[in-house]
Amino acid sequence: MGARMTIALHDPLDRPLRDLRISVTDRCNLRCAYCMPKQIFGRGYKFLDRGEMLTFEEIERLARLFVRLGVRKIRLTGGEPLLRTDLPELVGRLGALPLDLAMTSNGLLLAKHAKKLASAGLGRVTVSLDALDDATFSLNNGVGARAQAILDGIDAAAAAGLTPVKINMVVRRGINEHCVLPMARRFRGTPHVFRLIEFMDVGRTNGWRFADVVPARELVEMIDRELPLEPIAPAYRGEVARRWRYRDGRGEIGVIASVTEPFCGDCTRVRLSSNGKLYTCLFASTGTDLKRWLRDGVSDATIVAHLRGLWSRRADRYSEKRAISTGGGQGIEMSYIGG
Ligand code: SF4
Repeated sequence: MGARMTIALHDPLDRPLRDLRISVTDRCNLRCAYCMPKQIFGRGYKFLDRGEMLTFEEIERLARLFVRLGVRKIRLTGGEPLLRTDLPELVGRLGALPLDLAMTSNGLLLAKHAKKLASAGLGRVTVSLDALDDATFSLNNGVGARAQAILDGIDAAAAAGLTPVKINMVVRRGINEHCVLPMARRFRGTPHVFRLIEFMDVGRTNGWRFADVVPARELVEMIDRELPLEPIAPAYRGEVARRWRYRDGRGEIGVIASVTEPFCGDCTRVRLSSNGKLYTCLFASTGTDLKRWLRDGVSDATIVAHLRGLWSRRADRYSEKRAISTGGGQGIEMSYIGG
């Protein structure tokens, strides 16, 4: 591999560049209301064409360059990454790099693909599941998908060694906060890590209101009342979730509190869209077109220099500056950049 010397790159807030999230498609087979409301992402919606999307060669080339800049973790996202044909081939290419390779999926196709992804080199998987009862789950996912299909996907991922499986639940007041305790009971005592996510104002289409956010403190109290919890120290700088363990030792949960307890000060993440735009913040509204550089024959050294410049000018702290009164985001869509 002849790995070149990696120079740790820090932004002006002394945040190292360590995590690259790669969206491999803007398409999804669900229509979760907080991410891809079906009224907007319906029949006539114009998704990216194949030719607009980065090829696996281009993604691999960029991944190599980011590894030279200190990236140690890549997360594959979407839309729904399992809709990208031949995804195991990309996993195989990225799996050869010196990094931790993970994926976030809605789990609907996971039972079918888990084994192939694991043998191609995928290390871990995070699965989104917002309720166990089909009445709430299908209301939330907009296509009537059933929770059992996702649970089967989680089991298949665990059986394939994609562990620990993290289960992400986005909680919205008046929609699924009554499902928090049933979810906690379901995954307690299993090797899986149940994580609760505050509803975020990503993009311009999910009708976000602060009133619909169930704060992390309230979520923890909700569980603690029945299943006592105690806090755990972060495993590393930039860990997104605040961690809690059950006092009886039967596992842990995580809480991602971007709205009420922002963590921009430790944000080590950069995001690449499937059509090759680079964003230095989830809530950004403009990105840098890397695809043009790749297809215009720009050299690796020049691209690395550009990326170094970009990160060393990075000042993003959206969540810390969020004006709650604004009522909704102004940036790119979650389904386009992959959370
Ligand atoms: S809001 Fe932006 S800067 Fe803050 S943690 Fe999220 S992605 Fe990072």
